Amino acid sequence: MSSCKVCHLDSKKHNKKLWKLHQETQICVFCSRSSSEHSEKLWRMHNLAIEKGRAKGEKLYPITLGFARTCVARVVRINADPPNDVEFVPIYMACTECGLSLGSVEEDYADMLDGMCLGCFRKLIGQTDIWYDKPPATKIIKEGVKTRMYRDSKGKLHKL
Ligand SMILES: [Zn+2]
Ligand SMILES: [Zn+2]
Ligand SMILES: [Zn+2]
Repeated sequence: MSSCKVCHLDSKKHNKKLWKLHQETQICVFCSRSSSEHSEKLWRMHNLAIEKGRAKGEKLYPITLGFARTCVARVVRINADPPNDVEFVPIYMACTECGLSLGSVEEDYADMLDGMCLGCFRKLIGQTDIWYDKPPATKIIKEGVKTRMYRDSKGKLHKL
């Protein structure tokens, strides 16, 4: 019998997968947080987003844009003269209900929101008061950005 150093529950309160998430800390490629900050469901959803977002063998780079948090992007070669021939296309989750891209808050709570955006979730639970609206999410990270720099997980800038 042992207790978990992450959630302080007994090992028996975990299934195999959750125990692994809590004991072997991995960094989530999607949100750059450690696995212990994810529920089992959220971890699966974030991994799935990555899996769906990239082609096989494609390299991913964490990028930080403006005031947005670090997100992960794939590199796409486009038909233009260097240095404008590469584009970072951020990988994000889409609302399971309306298909709009999710904001970072919605991605962080995707397990509780069931992969829905706040708008759809509020409709589902019958909470439609405008008071609950969050400030509009920054749009820039959802579109491809032309840059030849990327930031690694330690925050260092590199040339591509
Ligand atoms: Zn635990
Ligand atoms: Zn994650
Ligand atoms: Zn939605």
